Amino acid sequence: MRQRKPIVAGNWKMNKTVAEAIDLATAIKRELGDCKDVDIVLCPPFTALKAVSEAITDTHVDLGAQNMHWEKSGAYTGEVSAEMLRELYCHYVILGHSERRAYFGETDEIVNKKTKAALAANLQPIVCIGETLAERESGRMTEVITTQVRGSLADLSPRELVSSIIAYEPVWAIGTGRTASPEQAQEVHALIRSLLRELADDAVAQSVRIQYGGSVKPANARELFGQPDIDGGLIGGAALEARSFIEIVRGAI
Ligand code: PEP
Repeated sequence: MRQRKPIVAGNWKMNKTVAEAIDLATAIKRELGDCKDVDIVLCPPFTALKAVSEAITDTHVDLGAQNMHWEKSGAYTGEVSAEMLRELYCHYVILGHSERRAYFGETDEIVNKKTKAALAANLQPIVCIGETLAERESGRMTEVITTQVRGSLADLSPRELVSSIIAYEPVWAIGTGRTASPEQAQEVHALIRSLLRELADDAVAQSVRIQYGGSVKPANARELFGQPDIDGGLIGGAALEARSFIEIVRGAI
């Protein structure tokens, strides 16, 4: 029996108008609205959060955002706070996605501040980490993952760690069609779990859910999610279409 409940989240990125978002959320909830075996999270762009929140009311499908600021309020043009996301019934927030790290300068320190702010507001952070192809090929994967885990999760209490979700997303596998093999992914997930053990203890390490992300498709989801330390996935491209997302979720059951 699985020790941790799998969690599959769809990261819609900068895609979907409000009308398209409602259509997609409605199609997903029609088939998965009463699924209790997997935590299912939809992460539309900010502009569609309210509409998707309404579309999935009274179902087992949850809402997540793709980013937030660490401050509660203030002169931060263009930003939104954790409290604002909670107001729209978000339960999760993706933090430190590799696109935010690469294009918007997010560092482990910033991700750490956001993670703490999300937890303080009762939002479950989905903290993304992952190495680039150059880092993997130069033999630096372990060092990069270790630095990201320690930096992004610095100073979290055991309880806060257990409320956090980690998404291992090798940058070379995101949107490229190139998936990590189940063995490659499992190796890094086991490394992340051992780092959690160092940050807290074995009970905490065994409780934290670690998602895999990077070109997950219906055809490879079940094998990836079947690895002992892989607890579901963070899905990009394949989450934009109801049928493929539904099949991926079923791969986690
Ligand atoms: C992502 O961006 O989080 C992601 C995993 O994308 P894709 O599934 O398209 O590789």
